[in-house]
Amino acid sequence: PPSAATADSKGRLLVIGATGFIGRFVAEASTESGRPTYVLVRPGSCFSPTKADAIKSLKEKGAIVVEGLMNDTDLMEKILKEHKIEIVISVVGGKAIMDQIALVEAIRAVGTVKRFLPSEFGHDIDRAGPVEPGLQMYIEKRKIRRMIEEYRVPYTYICCNSVASWPYYDNTHPSEVLPPLDQFQIYGDGSVKAGSDIGKFTVKVADDVRTLNTSVHFRPACNLYNMNELATLWEKKIGRTLPRVTISEGDLLDIAAENDIPRSIVASFTHDIFIKGCQTNFMIDGPNDVEVGDLYPEETFRTLDECFDDFAVMMKKPVVFCSK
Ligand code: NDP
Repeated sequence: PPSAATADSKGRLLVIGATGFIGRFVAEASTESGRPTYVLVRPGSCFSPTKADAIKSLKEKGAIVVEGLMNDTDLMEKILKEHKIEIVISVVGGKAIMDQIALVEAIRAVGTVKRFLPSEFGHDIDRAGPVEPGLQMYIEKRKIRRMIEEYRVPYTYICCNSVASWPYYDNTHPSEVLPPLDQFQIYGDGSVKAGSDIGKFTVKVADDVRTLNTSVHFRPACNLYNMNELATLWEKKIGRTLPRVTISEGDLLDIAAENDIPRSIVASFTHDIFIKGCQTNFMIDGPNDVEVGDLYPEETFRTLDECFDDFAVMMKKPVVFCSK
């Protein structure tokens, strides 16, 4: 079998969505790994202070900023050729999944991209099955997978499961919420397990010969917690116990059925994770499946325990109003 990876391989890497929640981790990890890192940003991104800050910080770390829209096939072809891009990582958000069609067309047309990682970064979408309205995103992500496979574009799918903050069922974006201080909402009986380092491992797998045309699953044993265990861990950090309120399977399905976007989408994912167990109810033993810990046994994962320490510190900080 092909031997391990590629510590010294430094393919020219393009990140699309680098100003996003997960994209920032990926783009930073790429610059830190010493790869020539290009980031595609939408024209006008500098008008948003948070995006401008993110772009400035990536530039300072060595990233080369290219302006454009992923859904412009001609432009994407030009960018891929001009910068001799070998690895493309798309980290666009849920609403832009189908914009990747134009990108895949461009990757096929240039024929020089050695690896494409489409925007997945969640569950194994061929195995998981949320109810609507969450299912729609999976249908779209599955269409992109089938297009990549049909065009024989070399790929890796990142199935990293839950990487974002506390698992609320009704939030707008998982990066925007901290764990609770009033009460826990426990989904079902709270016993189904859900499970970071997303940037570091994504960039590592992106040119690892062992991950060509595979799905890479993230299930680090140190971060395999069920809802009850998460609650107990948080109680230890804040030094007190909180009441637990059960959100039943029926409650989650009712909210999903309301089709109130984005609340209902998140409820359908929560149902799939915490009631059906979609992150852990299958073996990683298919011919095209690999677990990230098996690939890099020497690498450690940041633990949930450490992440919760960060949350505890963030909550103790006074709110400061800054006039700048
Ligand atoms: P965000 O919405 O935070 O960011 C999306 C990024 O894509 C932004 O930089 C945006 O640019 C850019 N973008 C969108 N459309 C285009 C386009 N046409 N051309 C160029 N750039 C574009 O995304 P997330 O980080 O939330 O989501 C990324 C992936 O991760 C998704 O597949 C999502 O499902 C998954 N995810 C997984 C989580 C988990 O816990 N496993 C949690 C959250 C997301 P701009 O800034 O200009 O809008």
